Amino acid sequence: MSANLLAVSLLRRRSAWFVVIGLASIAVAGVVYRSLSAPRPNIVLVTFDTTRADRLGAYGYSQGLTTAFDEFAKQGVVFEEAYAPAPITLPSHATMLTGLYPPEHGLRINGSGKLDREIPVLTEILKEQGYDTGAFIAAVVLDSVYGLDRGFDVYDDNVGSSARHHGERRRDGQEVVDAALAWLRQRTEKPFFCWIHLYDAHAPYDPRPETYQQQFSDNPYDAGVAWEVAQFARVTDYLKAEQLDANTVVVVAGDHGEGLGEHQEFEHGMLVYNTTLEVPFVAVCPDHFQAGTRVETPVSVVDLTPTLLDLLRIPSSRPMTGRSLLAAMQGGVLEPRDCYAEAETPFSLNRWCPLRAVISDRWKYIQSTRPELYDLQQDPGELQNLAESDGETAERLSALLTEMEQQFVVTRSGDANLSDDDLANLQALGYVSGGATSDEQSREADLPDVKDFIPEVAKFEEAKHLSLEGKSDEAIALLKEVMQATDQFPAANLLLGDCLAQAGRLDEAAETYQRLLQSHPDFEKVHQSLSRVRVQQGRLEDAEQELRKLIGKSPDSAVARLDLAQVLSRLGRPGEAIEECREALHNSPEFAAAHVVLGQLLSATGKLGDATASFEQALRYDPDNLDAHVHLFFVLSQLGEFNTAIRHGQKAVELAPDSFENRFNLGVLLIAQGRNDDGILQLEAAEKLKPDDPRPRQHIEQAQQSRRRGIGGGG
Ligand SMILES: [Zn+2]
Repeated sequence: MSANLLAVSLLRRRSAWFVVIGLASIAVAGVVYRSLSAPRPNIVLVTFDTTRADRLGAYGYSQGLTTAFDEFAKQGVVFEEAYAPAPITLPSHATMLTGLYPPEHGLRINGSGKLDREIPVLTEILKEQGYDTGAFIAAVVLDSVYGLDRGFDVYDDNVGSSARHHGERRRDGQEVVDAALAWLRQRTEKPFFCWIHLYDAHAPYDPRPETYQQQFSDNPYDAGVAWEVAQFARVTDYLKAEQLDANTVVVVAGDHGEGLGEHQEFEHGMLVYNTTLEVPFVAVCPDHFQAGTRVETPVSVVDLTPTLLDLLRIPSSRPMTGRSLLAAMQGGVLEPRDCYAEAETPFSLNRWCPLRAVISDRWKYIQSTRPELYDLQQDPGELQNLAESDGETAERLSALLTEMEQQFVVTRSGDANLSDDDLANLQALGYVSGGATSDEQSREADLPDVKDFIPEVAKFEEAKHLSLEGKSDEAIALLKEVMQATDQFPAANLLLGDCLAQAGRLDEAAETYQRLLQSHPDFEKVHQSLSRVRVQQGRLEDAEQELRKLIGKSPDSAVARLDLAQVLSRLGRPGEAIEECREALHNSPEFAAAHVVLGQLLSATGKLGDATASFEQALRYDPDNLDAHVHLFFVLSQLGEFNTAIRHGQKAVELAPDSFENRFNLGVLLIAQGRNDDGILQLEAAEKLKPDDPRPRQHIEQAQQSRRRGIGGGG
């Protein structure tokens, strides 16, 4: 902030103070009255995934196309130096919504863990205060299984059906904003909290020539940023058009940046340089914040929730580590405070030393096997490691970091029960790891330093994209190069196994997994990957053995027990399979997929009533569970409950409109129930999906004949 602005704001505050003193009772009463009568502001939180602050005009970039964001930022407060707590999506978003650093909320890597129920989430607090709450998510890494959905009336993480997905489960910002605007249009009289997650800047980059012609052919990353800004602008335009802008707090925050080749890092997650930690952080609300405010003091997005709660004067039930930035946003001074960041991914993926960083004033210290110290004022690019030449400062910051960590109240996250699809997707993204986060003991050991593997990390990341695009052979070649360069990259070994399995090279896949289990027996989940290959090879006893090893190592793993149930069922041991399902549900009662499998087993043993109850239970926890609807369609048909069966069949068609079986079966049942017109519509749609299959036509003709004969009613 400029000195002038500061002086003016201090003067204002002082004169306001004199007024209060002079007219004590009336003024105080007036203030209280105003605060109670003014409507609670709405809150819109837009998170720009993978967006570097320095790629936005508001932060000094000149080559992008971000004018709408830059103009928006001028209307409120820009935090010039804002840090993410981790260079990765799930931990960082969890920090934003809890006001806690990753060790405190427990979600420290992508693709693992469920937020502990004891930890209050911003959304829940707002919900209790009468807010309507909706979230619109663009990528599977923020799926509701990780628990960030708590307190949301609507948590739209339906990312499966997008056309522009690059082989991942993600969706375009345009679709995300469409969904968010549809929800905002149905708003009630209550204030709302709307979280919009935009993922368009994430790799693989798309220059979007159909929109930007050749403008971004050299910098396709900037096209993603431009596109997310364009989608963001649709939200602010809407608020303005509805005259909601004056009383809506719009916060834009980034979850992490992107390497873009600096420090030889292309993407994000493994290192904690400012390329991936410095994020945009802007808040605008004409009723509450002064336009044109720029705050120079370093802040962290951990401060987001405490700031919003302070603005709304809502006390939190549990202390938060972040602090309110409100005073600075209203023209006051912000005392400096140290910021913390970490990268746990090097450990969880590869058992390399995890990184811990502290930013204190001009200094940044990174704890690793070989620590780093940078003077951000002299060396903003973090190119000159001063850890040895300025040992004194390094030691001081190291002590500071230890002190910070000692104050954290550490939480361990629960288990997220991932569906097969989720797991497959995470596997492809390279997020499935040995599990477990580092503890003191593991950090004391002399772990490899991530800095020694940077070129291999780049190849690994490229292999992930190739594998997602279905180019298994190219991915396999690249991963073999990585493994030739080093035998200390288990994540590459694991991904190689996955790619080989994906390519149908099952023997090689099994060997690769076995090699990994020999070098890293603590990579428990590899037993599961190996068991799935064994199933494909038809070696069911071996599959059973692998799963029993996994359960021996982590008896609480509901996913492992569910896999075991399925293997046992195929081995013709339904009684044991049912037992394993029940054990899985004992550990994770809300595990919808386990309810479905239990239902299938019960239905196969003729217990149709119990099976129905299981499928219904699955829908209780996952109302859009396709398998549960499909099975209910069949079981209820068998039980003669045709109308309910048809309702589930219709839902199955709605969820999977391209499934021939769903439409065909529904069509046949509708006709059998005399609903010829509806049935024929389904059969005609089925026929289009599989023109070579004669059955839909046969049923259509039968229905038409019977109608001509006057048998069966219309539809
Ligand atoms: Zn992200």
